[in-house]
Amino acid sequence: MDKRAVVLLSGGMDSATAAAVARSNGFELYALTFDYGQRHRKELWCARALARFFKAREHRVLRIGLGKLGGSALTDRAIEVPDAGGGWTGGRPIPATYVPARNLVLLSFAAAYAETVGAGTVFIGANAVDYSGYPDCRSEFLRAFEEAARLGTKCGVSGRPLRVEAPLLRLSKAQVVRLGASLLVPFDLTWSCYRGGKRPCRRCDSCHLRAKGFEEAGMVDPVLEEGSGRKAQGARDEGARRKAQGAKAQGGRRKGQGGMRR
Ligand SMILES: [Zn+2]
Repeated sequence: MDKRAVVLLSGGMDSATAAAVARSNGFELYALTFDYGQRHRKELWCARALARFFKAREHRVLRIGLGKLGGSALTDRAIEVPDAGGGWTGGRPIPATYVPARNLVLLSFAAAYAETVGAGTVFIGANAVDYSGYPDCRSEFLRAFEEAARLGTKCGVSGRPLRVEAPLLRLSKAQVVRLGASLLVPFDLTWSCYRGGKRPCRRCDSCHLRAKGFEEAGMVDPVLEEGSGRKAQGARDEGARRKAQGAKAQGGRRKGQGGMRR
């Protein structure tokens, strides 16, 4: 297999589904996770378990000082994580959970990693439908980044421009849940809550959107099932168990499932 892709793997359900789309399209995965000073470690544990589940060729966890700049409820404990306001409608201001220039920074690292390992594609789980109003989750931004990478990298000027694939960009959260389920994404190994409690808080924007997605898809979120509180904590062990299951499931999976267009 010579199709390599860098996948930005945060530990959330969107990036896990994006990784599953990449796998199902025959890419060899180079997973990239950032420890950028987020409020809790759960999504990092989940990212490690997911990288193992998806049999990533490599998984890099980069520690970057984005959180030291502050400016976001996700990285600055002095700023409170707001409760959900019923979903973003387009008219609300950008919420306090926006991390300044996060995807611009993370994609830049992804481009550097891709160029280093010879990957021609970067997968990102950005979603522009049921999202919280973040400007760096829009297709205009992703296309502009692709263009910047084309102009500013060796592979770009050598005629091998990097592609940025955001397969979830135009999907509703319910569609993400359905797509993920069809690709056997282990949602129990994903963490979405902005707050890092033992269980998801069910009040923040991210919990709200996730719950709405599962409800509309007519599915039960395994993270909310009784006794699942330990799952994110024990993701390492769980990941190993699911890895064996995933190996079986991969065998019977149809190739090319999951659109990559944005
Ligand atoms: Zn929450």
